[in-house]
Amino acid sequence: MGKTDIGPPDYKTMLHPVIKKNYGQWKYHEILGPGVLMHVAESGDKIYSVRAGSGRLVSTDFIRGVCEIADKFSDGYLRFTSRHNLEFFVTDEKKVESLIAELESKGFPVGGTGNSITSIVHTQGWVHCHTPATDASGPVKAVMDDLYDYFTSMTLPAQLRIALACCLNMCGAVHCSDIAILGIHRLPPKVENERLRNVCEIPTTIASCPTGAIRANPKEKSVLVNDERCMYCGNCYTMCPAMPLAHPEGDGISIWVGGKVSNKRTPPRFSKLAIPFLPNNPPRWPEVVDAVRNIVEVYAKDARKFERVGDWIDRIGWEKFFKKTGIKFTMQHIDDFKLAPETYRTSTHFKF
Ligand code: SF4
Ligand code: SF4
Repeated sequence: MGKTDIGPPDYKTMLHPVIKKNYGQWKYHEILGPGVLMHVAESGDKIYSVRAGSGRLVSTDFIRGVCEIADKFSDGYLRFTSRHNLEFFVTDEKKVESLIAELESKGFPVGGTGNSITSIVHTQGWVHCHTPATDASGPVKAVMDDLYDYFTSMTLPAQLRIALACCLNMCGAVHCSDIAILGIHRLPPKVENERLRNVCEIPTTIASCPTGAIRANPKEKSVLVNDERCMYCGNCYTMCPAMPLAHPEGDGISIWVGGKVSNKRTPPRFSKLAIPFLPNNPPRWPEVVDAVRNIVEVYAKDARKFERVGDWIDRIGWEKFFKKTGIKFTMQHIDDFKLAPETYRTSTHFKF
Protein backbone atom coordinates (compact mmCIF):
# COMPACT_ATOMS: atom_id res chain seq x y z
CA MET A 1 0.00 0.00 0.00
CA GLY A 2 1.27 3.47 -0.84
CA LYS A 3 2.20 5.92 1.88
CA THR A 4 -0.52 8.33 2.93
CA ASP A 5 -0.91 10.74 5.80
CA ILE A 6 -4.33 9.30 6.70
CA GLY A 7 -4.40 7.12 9.80
CA PRO A 8 -1.53 5.22 11.35
CA PRO A 9 0.98 3.49 9.07
CA ASP A 10 0.85 -0.30 8.72
CA TYR A 11 2.61 -1.63 11.81
CA LYS A 12 3.84 -4.72 9.97
CA THR A 13 6.35 -2.58 8.08
CA MET A 14 8.01 -1.80 11.40
CA LEU A 15 8.27 -5.25 12.95
CA HIS A 16 11.68 -6.74 13.64
CA PRO A 17 12.39 -9.30 10.83
CA VAL A 18 12.37 -12.24 13.28
CA ILE A 19 8.99 -11.15 14.69
CA LYS A 20 7.61 -10.65 11.18
CA LYS A 21 8.82 -14.07 10.01
CA ASN A 22 7.28 -15.87 12.99
CA TYR A 23 4.15 -13.75 13.33
CA GLY A 24 1.41 -15.76 15.06
CA GLN A 25 3.64 -18.83 15.35
CA TRP A 26 5.18 -18.53 18.78
CA LYS A 27 5.66 -21.62 20.90
CA TYR A 28 6.31 -20.10 24.32
CA HIS A 29 8.05 -17.28 26.13
CA GLU A 30 10.01 -16.96 29.35
CA ILE A 31 11.05 -14.08 31.54
CA LEU A 32 14.78 -14.64 32.03
CA GLY A 33 15.26 -11.88 34.59
CA PRO A 34 14.05 -8.35 35.36
CA GLY A 35 13.48 -6.65 32.00
CA VAL A 36 14.49 -9.60 29.79
CA LEU A 37 12.00 -11.76 27.87
CA MET A 38 12.78 -14.63 25.52
CA HIS A 39 10.24 -15.61 22.86
CA VAL A 40 10.73 -18.96 21.10
CA ALA A 41 8.99 -19.62 17.77
CA GLU A 42 7.76 -22.91 16.27
CA SER A 43 10.58 -22.54 13.72
CA GLY A 44 13.16 -22.59 16.53
CA ASP A 45 13.96 -18.85 16.12
CA LYS A 46 14.49 -16.97 19.36
CA ILE A 47 14.22 -13.28 20.11
CA TYR A 48 15.15 -11.53 23.33
CA SER A 49 13.38 -8.30 24.33
CA VAL A 50 15.07 -5.98 26.78
CA ARG A 51 12.68 -3.59 28.54
CA ALA A 52 13.68 -0.25 30.02
CA GLY A 53 11.68 2.49 31.74
CA SER A 54 10.96 5.78 30.01
CA GLY A 55 8.89 8.87 30.71
CA ARG A 56 5.66 9.29 28.83
CA LEU A 57 6.29 12.82 27.60
CA VAL A 58 9.72 12.79 26.00
CA SER A 59 11.79 15.19 23.88
CA THR A 60 13.08 14.77 20.35
CA ASP A 61 16.63 14.56 21.73
CA PHE A 62 15.55 11.70 24.00
CA ILE A 63 14.06 9.81 21.04
CA ARG A 64 17.23 10.39 18.99
CA GLY A 65 19.28 8.92 21.87
CA VAL A 66 16.98 5.89 22.07
CA CYS A 67 17.19 5.39 18.29
CA GLU A 68 21.00 5.41 18.50
CA ILE A 69 20.85 2.56 21.03
CA ALA A 70 18.42 0.70 18.74
CA ASP A 71 20.75 1.16 15.74
CA LYS A 72 23.73 -0.10 17.71
CA PHE A 73 22.16 -3.13 19.45
CA SER A 74 18.71 -3.83 18.10
CA ASP A 75 19.05 -3.90 14.26
CA GLY A 76 17.41 -0.45 14.20
CA TYR A 77 14.12 -1.65 15.75
CA LEU A 78 12.44 -0.66 19.00
CA ARG A 79 8.95 -0.34 20.39
CA PHE A 80 7.12 1.54 23.10
CA THR A 81 4.91 -0.69 25.24
CA SER A 82 1.39 0.39 26.20
CA ARG A 83 2.80 1.56 29.56
CA HIS A 84 5.50 3.68 27.95
CA ASN A 85 8.41 1.31 28.44
CA LEU A 86 11.03 0.94 25.74
CA GLU A 87 11.75 -2.48 24.27
CA PHE A 88 14.84 -3.39 22.27
CA PHE A 89 15.29 -6.69 20.41
CA VAL A 90 18.34 -8.94 20.32
CA THR A 91 18.63 -12.25 18.46
CA ASP A 92 21.96 -13.26 19.97
CA GLU A 93 21.75 -14.04 23.69
CA LYS A 94 25.37 -12.95 24.17
CA LYS A 95 24.43 -9.39 23.25
CA VAL A 96 21.79 -9.07 25.99
CA GLU A 97 24.33 -8.23 28.69
CA SER A 98 26.07 -5.52 26.64
CA LEU A 99 22.69 -3.93 25.76
CA ILE A 100 21.73 -3.87 29.44
CA ALA A 101 25.13 -2.33 30.31
CA GLU A 102 24.63 0.36 27.65
CA LEU A 103 21.12 1.17 28.89
CA GLU A 104 22.21 1.35 32.52
CA SER A 105 25.23 3.51 31.66
CA LYS A 106 22.80 5.97 30.04
CA GLY A 107 20.56 6.06 33.11
CA PHE A 108 17.74 3.82 31.86
CA PRO A 109 16.34 1.44 34.49
CA VAL A 110 16.02 -2.09 33.09
CA GLY A 111 13.01 -4.03 34.41
CA GLY A 112 9.23 -3.71 34.42
CA THR A 113 8.56 -7.37 33.57
CA GLY A 114 6.76 -10.12 35.52
CA ASN A 115 5.90 -9.47 39.15
CA SER A 116 7.17 -5.91 39.13
CA ILE A 117 5.69 -2.43 39.04
CA THR A 118 6.07 -1.37 35.45
CA SER A 119 6.03 2.27 34.28
CA ILE A 120 2.92 4.24 35.23
CA VAL A 121 0.55 4.93 32.36
CA HIS A 122 -0.66 8.53 32.61
CA THR A 123 -2.43 11.44 30.97
CA GLN A 124 -1.52 15.00 29.96
CA GLY A 125 -1.61 17.03 33.19
CA TRP A 126 -1.53 20.75 33.80
CA VAL A 127 0.60 21.58 30.78
CA HIS A 128 -1.38 19.89 28.04
CA CYS A 129 -5.08 19.60 28.95
CA HIS A 130 -7.80 22.00 30.02
CA THR A 131 -9.70 20.05 32.72
CA PRO A 132 -7.01 18.48 34.95
CA ALA A 133 -7.53 18.40 38.70
CA THR A 134 -3.91 17.44 39.20
CA ASP A 135 -0.70 17.20 37.22
CA ALA A 136 0.24 13.95 35.47
CA SER A 137 4.01 13.71 34.96
CA GLY A 138 4.70 15.35 38.35
CA PRO A 139 2.97 12.88 40.71
CA VAL A 140 3.97 9.97 38.45
CA LYS A 141 7.65 10.90 38.66
CA ALA A 142 7.44 11.30 42.45
CA VAL A 143 5.61 7.97 42.95
CA MET A 144 7.83 6.01 40.55
CA ASP A 145 11.04 7.45 42.05
CA ASP A 146 9.85 6.08 45.38
CA LEU A 147 8.91 2.66 43.96
CA TYR A 148 12.00 2.36 41.72
CA ASP A 149 13.21 -0.88 43.36
CA TYR A 150 9.96 -2.60 42.45
CA PHE A 151 10.63 -1.76 38.78
CA THR A 152 14.07 -3.32 38.66
CA SER A 153 13.09 -6.46 40.61
CA MET A 154 10.29 -9.06 40.41
CA THR A 155 9.64 -9.54 44.10
CA LEU A 156 5.90 -8.75 44.33
CA PRO A 157 3.23 -11.49 44.56
CA ALA A 158 1.99 -10.61 41.04
CA GLN A 159 2.12 -7.85 38.45
CA LEU A 160 1.22 -4.48 39.87
CA ARG A 161 -0.04 -1.89 37.40
CA ILE A 162 -0.37 1.75 38.43
CA ALA A 163 -2.16 4.40 36.37
CA LEU A 164 -2.85 8.11 36.69
CA ALA A 165 -5.58 10.21 35.09
CA CYS A 166 -5.71 13.90 35.88
CA CYS A 167 -9.54 14.14 35.76
CA LEU A 168 -12.58 11.87 35.74
CA ASN A 169 -12.51 11.72 31.93
CA MET A 170 -9.70 9.30 32.71
CA CYS A 171 -7.62 9.16 29.57
CA GLY A 172 -5.31 6.93 31.66
CA ALA A 173 -6.18 3.31 32.51
CA VAL A 174 -7.40 4.21 36.00
CA HIS A 175 -10.58 2.15 35.74
CA CYS A 176 -8.62 -1.08 35.30
CA SER A 177 -5.31 -0.78 37.19
CA ASP A 178 -4.25 -2.37 40.47
CA ILE A 179 -3.64 1.08 41.94
CA ALA A 180 -5.08 4.18 40.30
CA ILE A 181 -4.26 7.81 41.02
CA LEU A 182 -7.16 9.95 39.86
CA GLY A 183 -7.46 13.73 39.90
CA ILE A 184 -10.80 15.02 41.21
CA HIS A 185 -12.49 18.40 41.38
CA ARG A 186 -14.61 19.11 44.44
CA LEU A 187 -16.18 22.44 43.58
CA PRO A 188 -18.71 23.41 40.89
CA PRO A 189 -17.62 25.61 37.97
CA LYS A 190 -17.44 29.36 38.44
CA VAL A 191 -19.66 31.13 35.95
CA GLU A 192 -17.94 34.21 34.47
CA ASN A 193 -21.04 36.06 33.23
CA GLU A 194 -19.19 38.83 31.38
CA ARG A 195 -17.11 36.41 29.40
CA LEU A 196 -19.74 33.74 28.97
CA ARG A 197 -22.17 35.89 27.07
CA ASN A 198 -19.45 36.71 24.54
CA VAL A 199 -17.72 33.37 24.04
CA CYS A 200 -20.26 30.59 24.72
CA GLU A 201 -23.43 29.26 23.15
CA ILE A 202 -25.98 29.00 25.94
CA PRO A 203 -28.10 26.07 24.58
CA THR A 204 -25.05 23.84 23.96
CA THR A 205 -23.62 24.76 27.37
CA ILE A 206 -26.89 23.76 29.06
CA ALA A 207 -27.05 20.56 26.99
CA SER A 208 -23.48 19.61 27.92
CA CYS A 209 -24.32 18.88 31.55
CA PRO A 210 -25.00 15.18 32.16
CA THR A 211 -26.92 15.83 35.40
CA GLY A 212 -29.02 18.77 34.16
CA ALA A 213 -27.40 21.13 36.66
CA ILE A 214 -27.19 24.11 34.30
CA ARG A 215 -30.09 26.40 33.48
CA ALA A 216 -30.41 29.70 31.63
CA ASN A 217 -29.93 32.99 33.44
CA PRO A 218 -31.74 35.39 31.06
CA LYS A 219 -31.13 38.42 33.29
CA GLU A 220 -27.37 38.11 32.83
CA LYS A 221 -27.57 36.52 29.35
CA SER A 222 -25.64 33.71 30.95
CA VAL A 223 -26.26 30.46 32.90
CA LEU A 224 -26.71 29.34 36.51
CA VAL A 225 -25.34 26.16 38.07
CA ASN A 226 -27.33 24.18 40.64
CA ASP A 227 -24.46 23.22 42.99
CA GLU A 228 -26.51 20.37 44.52
CA ARG A 229 -26.77 18.58 41.18
CA CYS A 230 -23.20 19.25 39.99
CA MET A 231 -20.82 16.30 40.06
CA TYR A 232 -17.77 18.41 39.08
CA CYS A 233 -17.17 16.52 35.83
CA GLY A 234 -15.93 19.53 33.84
CA ASN A 235 -18.00 18.73 30.77
CA CYS A 236 -19.48 22.25 30.70
CA TYR A 237 -15.99 23.75 30.74
CA THR A 238 -15.15 21.75 27.62
CA MET A 239 -18.11 23.41 25.88
CA CYS A 240 -17.72 26.81 27.49
CA PRO A 241 -14.34 28.18 28.61
CA ALA A 242 -16.10 30.80 30.76
CA MET A 243 -16.99 28.09 33.33
CA PRO A 244 -13.62 27.11 34.85
CA LEU A 245 -13.71 24.65 37.74
CA ALA A 246 -10.01 24.30 38.60
CA HIS A 247 -9.36 25.43 42.17
CA PRO A 248 -6.15 25.29 44.24
CA GLU A 249 -7.82 23.75 47.32
CA GLY A 250 -10.85 22.14 45.69
CA ASP A 251 -8.72 20.02 43.36
CA GLY A 252 -6.71 17.00 44.43
CA ILE A 253 -6.19 13.29 44.07
CA SER A 254 -8.20 10.17 44.90
CA ILE A 255 -6.74 6.66 45.05
CA TRP A 256 -8.52 3.61 43.60
CA VAL A 257 -7.54 -0.05 43.86
CA GLY A 258 -8.22 -3.51 42.54
CA GLY A 259 -8.76 -3.05 38.79
CA LYS A 260 -7.16 -5.17 36.09
CA VAL A 261 -7.37 -5.92 32.37
CA SER A 262 -6.02 -9.45 32.51
CA ASN A 263 -8.42 -12.41 32.52
CA LYS A 264 -5.82 -14.68 34.10
CA ARG A 265 -7.34 -16.68 37.00
CA THR A 266 -10.18 -14.15 37.53
CA PRO A 267 -12.10 -11.95 35.04
CA PRO A 268 -11.11 -8.33 34.35
CA ARG A 269 -12.48 -5.88 36.91
CA PHE A 270 -12.91 -2.21 37.69
CA SER A 271 -10.99 -0.28 40.33
CA LYS A 272 -12.84 0.87 43.47
CA LEU A 273 -12.36 3.87 45.70
CA ALA A 274 -9.77 3.55 48.48
CA ILE A 275 -8.90 7.17 49.40
CA PRO A 276 -11.38 9.91 48.42
CA PHE A 277 -9.07 12.91 48.61
CA LEU A 278 -5.41 13.87 48.96
CA PRO A 279 -4.19 17.42 48.39
CA ASN A 280 -2.18 18.57 45.40
CA ASN A 281 1.22 19.18 46.90
CA PRO A 282 3.72 19.80 44.11
CA PRO A 283 6.50 19.30 43.24
CA ARG A 284 6.79 15.91 45.03
CA TRP A 285 3.21 15.06 46.16
CA PRO A 286 4.40 13.47 49.46
CA GLU A 287 0.88 12.48 50.63
CA VAL A 288 0.22 10.60 47.39
CA VAL A 289 3.64 8.91 47.41
CA ASP A 290 3.12 7.72 51.00
CA ALA A 291 -0.42 6.49 50.30
CA VAL A 292 0.63 4.45 47.24
CA ARG A 293 3.69 2.99 48.99
CA ASN A 294 1.55 1.99 51.97
CA ILE A 295 -0.89 0.03 49.75
CA VAL A 296 1.99 -1.59 47.82
CA GLU A 297 3.76 -2.67 51.00
CA VAL A 298 0.69 -4.07 52.76
CA TYR A 299 -0.24 -5.95 49.56
CA ALA A 300 3.33 -7.24 49.08
CA LYS A 301 3.36 -8.63 52.61
CA ASP A 302 -0.16 -10.03 52.75
CA ALA A 303 -1.06 -11.33 49.27
CA ARG A 304 -0.49 -14.88 48.10
CA LYS A 305 1.66 -15.73 45.12
CA PHE A 306 0.03 -14.61 41.81
CA GLU A 307 -2.78 -12.73 43.59
CA ARG A 308 -3.40 -9.33 41.98
CA VAL A 309 -4.47 -6.48 44.29
CA GLY A 310 -8.19 -7.01 43.49
CA ASP A 311 -7.95 -10.77 44.05
CA TRP A 312 -6.20 -10.18 47.36
CA ILE A 313 -8.95 -7.77 48.49
CA ASP A 314 -11.62 -10.27 47.40
CA ARG A 315 -10.01 -12.96 49.54
CA ILE A 316 -9.51 -10.87 52.69
CA GLY A 317 -12.62 -8.67 52.21
CA TRP A 318 -12.89 -4.87 51.95
CA GLU A 319 -13.25 -4.56 55.73
CA LYS A 320 -9.83 -6.11 56.25
CA PHE A 321 -8.36 -4.07 53.40
CA PHE A 322 -9.25 -0.85 55.23
CA LYS A 323 -8.02 -2.28 58.52
CA LYS A 324 -4.70 -3.60 57.26
CA THR A 325 -3.83 -0.48 55.25
CA GLY A 326 -5.04 1.88 57.98
CA ILE A 327 -7.11 3.77 55.38
CA LYS A 328 -10.17 5.51 56.84
CA PHE A 329 -13.62 4.43 55.65
CA THR A 330 -15.63 7.56 54.83
CA MET A 331 -19.05 8.46 53.47
CA GLN A 332 -17.50 8.87 50.01
CA HIS A 333 -16.98 5.09 49.94
CA ILE A 334 -20.72 4.49 49.78
CA ASP A 335 -21.86 4.35 46.18
CA ASP A 336 -24.58 6.56 44.76
CA PHE A 337 -27.85 4.73 45.39
CA LYS A 338 -29.82 6.89 43.00
CA LEU A 339 -27.87 6.10 39.85
CA ALA A 340 -26.84 2.51 40.41
CA PRO A 341 -29.31 0.80 42.73
CA GLU A 342 -28.55 -2.79 41.84
CA THR A 343 -24.87 -3.05 41.16
CA TYR A 344 -22.97 -1.18 43.84
CA ARG A 345 -22.57 -1.09 47.59
CA THR A 346 -25.26 1.17 48.95
CA SER A 347 -25.04 0.63 52.69
CA THR A 348 -22.53 1.21 55.48
CA HIS A 349 -22.95 -2.33 56.82
CA PHE A 350 -19.35 -3.46 56.84
CA LYS A 351 -18.33 -6.24 59.19
CA PHE A 352 -15.39 -4.62 60.96
S1 SF4 B 1 -7.68 12.79 32.19
FE1 SF4 B 1 -8.92 14.67 31.94
S2 SF4 B 1 -7.53 16.39 32.36
FE2 SF4 B 1 -6.29 14.56 32.04
S3 SF4 B 1 -5.74 14.59 29.88
FE3 SF4 B 1 -7.61 13.38 30.03
S4 SF4 B 1 -9.31 14.84 29.74
FE4 SF4 B 1 -7.45 16.01 30.16
S1 SF4 C 1 -19.16 20.31 36.08
FE1 SF4 C 1 -20.36 18.69 35.06
S2 SF4 C 1 -22.08 18.32 36.45
FE2 SF4 C 1 -21.19 20.31 37.04
S3 SF4 C 1 -22.33 21.81 35.92
FE3 SF4 C 1 -20.56 21.31 34.67
S4 SF4 C 1 -21.27 19.69 33.28
FE4 SF4 C 1 -22.76 19.84 34.94
